[in-house]
This record gives sequence, C-alpha cells and structure tokens, in this order.
Amino acid sequence: MKLGGSLTFAVPQLNDWFESQFAQLDVAPPDGSRFLNRYSGAFMRNGLKVCRMDTRTPEQRRKIMQSVKSKDTGPEMLVRRILHRLGYRFRLHRKDLPGRPDIVLPRHRKVILVHGCFWHAHGCAKGRPPKSRKDYWLPKLQENVRRDRTKLEHLEALGWQVMVVWQCETKDVEVLAARLKDFVRKV
Ligand SMILES: [Zn+2]
Repeated sequence: MKLGGSLTFAVPQLNDWFESQFAQLDVAPPDGSRFLNRYSGAFMRNGLKVCRMDTRTPEQRRKIMQSVKSKDTGPEMLVRRILHRLGYRFRLHRKDLPGRPDIVLPRHRKVILVHGCFWHAHGCAKGRPPKSRKDYWLPKLQENVRRDRTKLEHLEALGWQVMVVWQCETKDVEVLAARLKDFVRKV
C-alpha cells in the first residue's frame, strides 16, 4: 500500500496510522516528507520495512513540515481569531450537533465548517486527489464528501445556517473577515 504516492510501508496498519494522523490535522499526507523520513529509521530498526522515494525539494518538504506542525495556527485557528476579533461568541466542536461542527455561534444559530482542501476534495489545485493509487484515494475522498454533505443537510434540517470555509480561502485574511462578518450578520 502506498501513502501519498511515494511512501510504502510493508505493514498496512502503518499506512492507516500515518494516514489517520494527517486526516486529523486536515492536511494532505506528504510524499516522502522529512516527517516520514525521520521516523522510517525507527520503523526499520524495529524490523518494519519502509521503502521511500523522495521526489520533493527541500523547500517543499519544509512547507509540508510546517503544515503538519501548525495545528494551532492552521485555517481553523485563523477563522477563530477573526471571529474573536469581530467580537462574536462561539463554541467549538459541540458534541450535541451532527458531526461535531468546528465552530458554532449559538446566538446567531450559525455553524462554520473549516475544511482542508485535500481531505474534503475541494475543486481547487490543493484539492486534487493524488495521481497515483487513484483506486485507493478516490473512494476514500468521495466518502468524505458524502459525509460532509450529510452533515450539512442534518445541520440545516435542524435550523442551523452553515458556512464552509476552505483552507485555500484563508490566504487573504481581510477578504475572509468580510465574508465571515456577512455570514454572521445575515438574517
Ligand atoms: Zn481549496
């Protein structure tokens, strides 16, 4: 089984584990990043076979590492900081709502979902599935999209208005702030 196109673990459970780590962080799994390179030595010492073929430049690897480490500075944190700056009160990951939505504004009865482009299959450049192992990735990503749609429909059926913020839409903070403001104010 291959992970992200260029890393193969001989033990399938390891692929699943690595994949779940990146799914949790909502960033695309890397192709042979420094992160994986660092740990492959340990796996091999423990008798687990790891084959890798790193085709990334050092600069690309550095960026991937940053995105993996930066859970608290990622898109969701940015949205939270903007909302806070705008003076809106919100709750996080409310367990009593379908799919534990990322950000909930109870007073406005609104929900904001922050989606990583890769795992939620956005139609942007970052949202493209890996070129290799399409038979593996496509069903997985399609299932995520299906789950997102169900979650959104449930929330709307319960009377919540939902806004999706994509990772790629968090580049321009001012534009994003204006959109968030419009959404929260909208009746
Ligand atoms: Zn995107």
